[in-house]
Amino acid sequence: MTDEKLTGQTAVVTGANSGIGRGIALALGAAGANVVVNYRSDPEGGHAVARLITEGGSRAAALQADVSVEADVEAMFARAVELFGTVDILINNAGMQKDARFEEMTLAQWNSVIGVNLTGQFLCARAAVREFKRRGPRPAVSSALGKIIHISSVHEVIPWAGHVNYAASKGGVMQLMKSLAQEVAPLRIRVNSICPGAIRTPINRDGWETPEALAALMKLIPMKRIGEPEDIGKAAVFLASDDSDYVTGTSLFVDGGMTLYPGFESGG
Ligand code: BGC
Repeated sequence: MTDEKLTGQTAVVTGANSGIGRGIALALGAAGANVVVNYRSDPEGGHAVARLITEGGSRAAALQADVSVEADVEAMFARAVELFGTVDILINNAGMQKDARFEEMTLAQWNSVIGVNLTGQFLCARAAVREFKRRGPRPAVSSALGKIIHISSVHEVIPWAGHVNYAASKGGVMQLMKSLAQEVAPLRIRVNSICPGAIRTPINRDGWETPEALAALMKLIPMKRIGEPEDIGKAAVFLASDDSDYVTGTSLFVDGGMTLYPGFESGG
């Protein structure tokens, strides 16, 4: 354990079996949190992440749930409370892409992306707020009643042709986050988003696995490097800890400058 900012707190990280969720789960574990490693269809990945956290000296449990299914979410939170006593931190990370040109996009592609990326974040956030209120304040571990961190995307502001379901879901996450933050701020529940740019994970493998694809991607990133899950993990620890005690309702872009209109680097 390298840093114990989150000792005594429990975090639920959805979609933590791989990619950004995995990076966040490991970072929270290293910061001393007990971690619920949620997965939907990859038990090996989920259990492997839980094992790494346990080996690092924190507690962890891999729990299966489809975040778009209300009963699954309720059961996961009930089990988390049974195992660890309460939940202090929710990382609303589970997400997917089902890309298609607009006129070819099926209703199933639309519904599955909205179901996981937006409705899933609603269901988990609602369960978290209910648990924070049931449990009440624990000033010894945090000055907040609870913390919710939505994993959004640069595409909450950057339009994305060929991905309208995904971009619509992330635009929705932005207003879900802000409206919820406004509603629960008086309760001392902090709600924020992290907006990753291109992070090296399975979701965008096509964008970085060949040198040609990587070179094309670099044109979109002023810092000229792809992000790593650890970049997001560090931001999540900050937003989950009392270091960000006065921060709520904000979208923290962790994107190497992707939202800085890189096309305007010269000219305009
Ligand atoms: C998407 C990635 C994409 C990145 C930058 C993310 O939200 O999931 O596929 O590389 O945005 O465009």
